[in-house]
Amino acid sequence: MFKSILIANRGEIAVRVIRACKEMGIESVSVYSTADKDCIHTKLSDRSICIGPPPPAKSYLNMDNIISAAKVAGCDAIHPGYGFLAENPKFVDACLQNELVFIGPPTEAITLAGNKSNAIDIMKKNKIPVIPGSSGDVGDIKKALNLGNHLGYPIIIKASFGGGGKGMRICSNKEDLIAHFPTAKSESESSFGTDEVYIEKYIPKPRHIEFQIIADNYGNIVCVGERECSIQRRHQKLIEEAPAVNMPPKTIKLMREFALKAARVINYKNLGTIEFLVDGHGNFYFIEINTRIQVEHPVTEMVTGLDLVKEQIKIAACRKTSTLGTEYKPRGHCIEFRINAEDPDNDFRPCPGKITDFFLPGGPGVRVDTFIHPDCEVSPFYDSLIAKLIVWDGTREEAIRKSHRALDEFKIEGIKTTIPFYRKIITNKNFISGNIHTHFIEEEIK
Ligand code: ADP
Repeated sequence: MFKSILIANRGEIAVRVIRACKEMGIESVSVYSTADKDCIHTKLSDRSICIGPPPPAKSYLNMDNIISAAKVAGCDAIHPGYGFLAENPKFVDACLQNELVFIGPPTEAITLAGNKSNAIDIMKKNKIPVIPGSSGDVGDIKKALNLGNHLGYPIIIKASFGGGGKGMRICSNKEDLIAHFPTAKSESESSFGTDEVYIEKYIPKPRHIEFQIIADNYGNIVCVGERECSIQRRHQKLIEEAPAVNMPPKTIKLMREFALKAARVINYKNLGTIEFLVDGHGNFYFIEINTRIQVEHPVTEMVTGLDLVKEQIKIAACRKTSTLGTEYKPRGHCIEFRINAEDPDNDFRPCPGKITDFFLPGGPGVRVDTFIHPDCEVSPFYDSLIAKLIVWDGTREEAIRKSHRALDEFKIEGIKTTIPFYRKIITNKNFISGNIHTHFIEEEIK
C-alpha cells in the first residue's frame, strides 16, 4: 500500500480524500494556492504545500508545481479528485515519468473518454445504443446542414472535448444551426482548446442515468449501481439520487449490462462512470464515460456501504477489487443536494464572500461533505460548490421527508446559497411523485 498520497485538489473533495487516507493509515499531503492558505484541507492533512497564486492555471492546474510538491514531500501517489487535472492525460503521463502512481485510470482510457464523439463511435461499433448523430468531428456548416436534414430537428451541437455542461447548442431548425454552428465551434476552441464539435439528435426531456463501474488491474469489472442525475440546471447536475427513480427493473438491468460492456470494450481500469440518457419511451443511449470520482459518488456509497475513494486507492495500489462477487442491491434511498455559493434569486450568480456563521445538519442518515469552517472565505477563484448534503433513509418518500428536516437545519450566513431553492424543489408534486427529467427546473420551479 502507498505510504504517502498527495491530493492535487481543494474544497470538499480534498477533505474527502484526506479522510480516506487517514482511515487507511496513509500519510496525506495537501496542496494549496495562496487564496486557500487557511482552508480546512490544509489543516486536516498531515502536511501541506503551497503550489502558487490563486488563479487555477498557476496553482491547481500547474503540473510542474504539483509534481515537484509530491517529489519534495516523498509521496508515492497522487489523487486528483475531480475537475482540475483529474482527466488530463498529460498529467497522468507526468506522474508516471516521475514515478508517482496516478490514482485513476490509465492514460489511454482518459484519452479515449476525453474525445466524446470518438468514445461514442467505439460504443456504436460494439453495439451499445447511442443517440443518432454524426460520426467524429463535424468540420463545416455544409456537413452540419446535411446532418440536420438527415436526422431531423431538433439537434444539439456538442464540443467533442467538452465537459461540465458547457458549449452545447440546441438547434430547432436550419436557421438555428446556421446561427449557432460558428459560435459553438469558437466556444469549444476557447474553453477546450479545439474547435471539434459533434452533432446528436436532441432528445426532449430525457432522464440522465449513470452507472458506477469499479475495475481492478486484473480484468475484473463490476457495476455497483446507478444514479439518477436528472435534476439539472443548464445541463449541470444539482440533485442526484440512488437508486434511479421509478425506472423499471428490467430497463435498469439492461442498462447495467451495457454499462459493463462499455467498460469491458475499452479495457477500463479503476473507477469510472458510464452515462446514459433515457427518452420518454424508455429507450436509452450511451452519452459519455467519466474517468474520475464523481461529485455525486456519495449517493452510491450510502446505498451500497462502499467507500469509493478507498476503492480507487486500493485498485491503484494493485489490489484486487474487494467488491468482486457481490450482487449490489441498493439499500434504501439516498438524495444529494449540491449546496452552491450562488444566488438563486439572481440567475444563480456566484456569491463568494465570508461565511459569518453556519450550522450543519446531522442526525441519523444525514451526511455533509464540506470544507466550510468558522470565518471561512468562499473564494471567487474556484467553483461555487461549498457543501454536499447527503440524505439517506429507507424509502425515497422518507428520504424526501428527512431532506426537509435537514435543509431546514442547514444555516449558512453571510453569503447566498442554493439551500432555499432546494426547499422549493422537494415540495413540488412532480418531484415527490418522481416525475422528473432534465428540464424539470425550467418547467416546474419558478
Ligand atoms: P458534459 O460532459 O458537458 O456534462 P454530457 O454529454 O454529459 O455533457 O451532457 C450533459 C447534459 O446535457 C445531459 O445530462 C443532458 O441534460 C444534456 N444533453 C446532452 N446531450 C443531449 C441530447 N442529445 N439530447 C438532450 N439533452 C442532452
